[in-house]
Amino acid sequence: MKLFKHSRSYARTRRRISRWGTDFAAIVAIFAGIAFTASAQAPASKRTVIRAGRVLNVRTGELRTNQAIVIEGEKISQIAPSAEVKAAVGDTTIDLPDATVLPGLIDMHTHLTFELSSLSYEGLKISTAREALHGARNARRTLEAGFTTVRNVGAKDYADIALRDAINDGDVIGPRMVASGPALGITGGHCDENLLPPAFHFFGEGVADGVEAVQHKVREVIKYGADVIKICATGGVLSKGDDPNASQFTLEEMKAIVADAHRLGRKVAAHAHGAEGVRWASEAGVDSIEHGHLMDDAAIATLKKNGTYLVPTLFLGEYMEKNLDRSDVPEYSKQKMRDVAAAMQKNVKKAFDAGVKVAFGTDAAVYPHGLNAGEFHVYVKLGMTPLAAIQTATINASDLLGPRFAVGFLEPGKFADLIAVDGDPTKDVTILEHVKFVMKGGAVYKNDYAKR
Ligand SMILES: [Zn+2]
Repeated sequence: MKLFKHSRSYARTRRRISRWGTDFAAIVAIFAGIAFTASAQAPASKRTVIRAGRVLNVRTGELRTNQAIVIEGEKISQIAPSAEVKAAVGDTTIDLPDATVLPGLIDMHTHLTFELSSLSYEGLKISTAREALHGARNARRTLEAGFTTVRNVGAKDYADIALRDAINDGDVIGPRMVASGPALGITGGHCDENLLPPAFHFFGEGVADGVEAVQHKVREVIKYGADVIKICATGGVLSKGDDPNASQFTLEEMKAIVADAHRLGRKVAAHAHGAEGVRWASEAGVDSIEHGHLMDDAAIATLKKNGTYLVPTLFLGEYMEKNLDRSDVPEYSKQKMRDVAAAMQKNVKKAFDAGVKVAFGTDAAVYPHGLNAGEFHVYVKLGMTPLAAIQTATINASDLLGPRFAVGFLEPGKFADLIAVDGDPTKDVTILEHVKFVMKGGAVYKNDYAKR
């Protein structure tokens, strides 16, 4: 029995989505030293031509009017003035005469399988299978909000890996996912589970203490599908009984994690609030610091010196200022949330001013999935231009993901991942909170312009 009615466009979408999976398989095969070309198997596909009123070059800020974006299969083949691109028999044309088209947005810090309520005692009632299904709903919301790629940094029991694979197979609608599996952390730390007394022997799957144990854990999460390694360098806000200021992994443990992860082709994202943990993680060679909310000047200087990215996750602070008391933030975390929220903007602004590299990230799950674009206006409030804020979610995020992932640009040869909005987001970045058109891999997932 068929569970879903598939329209023809949905079937086409499935084929296109599954080719990203094929590409990923090709990457894996290349890493394994096996000659294998996915493109040789792809059937010749007809063209989709988007005729756009304006196209934003996110590298330069240039807005070109009356452009045609030609898509073949899941990739862009040409961008040119619309008059120079003649219609061909069999073309699918999408007219967006009043819209501004830009690359699909990238959120470098999501937890699609989590809700705020799954991070406390309430969460003990929720099975991993149920969390994966929450993830299916949240993946769709995130994609429809204009985020065509996410880096998912932490989930229980590999629910994120299952969700990534379901999206790649076309079973579920969602963004491209670069997923970590369980986050690595110390016993009793932010990435452990500290909710139950000892008789329950309850601990997080990513717990590892000591150099040998962390090496084993890195290899284990890669074995089960991790694209990126997430670690907890300091305490956190929504965990019970730990201190966001306190360092957790030692410098030696983090050096061992980074050495193994990089040797195996994975980047490392380190959750870190407190200054010492930020410094140690950067000196150990992690690729990004997540949050960094309690950094001091020395920590900021270390990020700058080492070229470590900061993923600031600031909108959650504004959201919690208004919603903390009626939110699902557990009692044991409320004061920590107030303290960290009070410090985050001031410290992150210092990092912006110092020229630390920034990639866009939200920690969506702490607030409802789909509101991710709320993050942009905070960056602008702290001194970024709207274009620079857009770059954090496109070219900077792409740089942090690495060359394996051809996203973040509208250029021939890149994935046709793009969005359209009214007006000019380089003048008013909050326009990105109202994305009206979403394409991923050449397939349309949202088109409010067609409804008029
Ligand atoms: Zn997080």
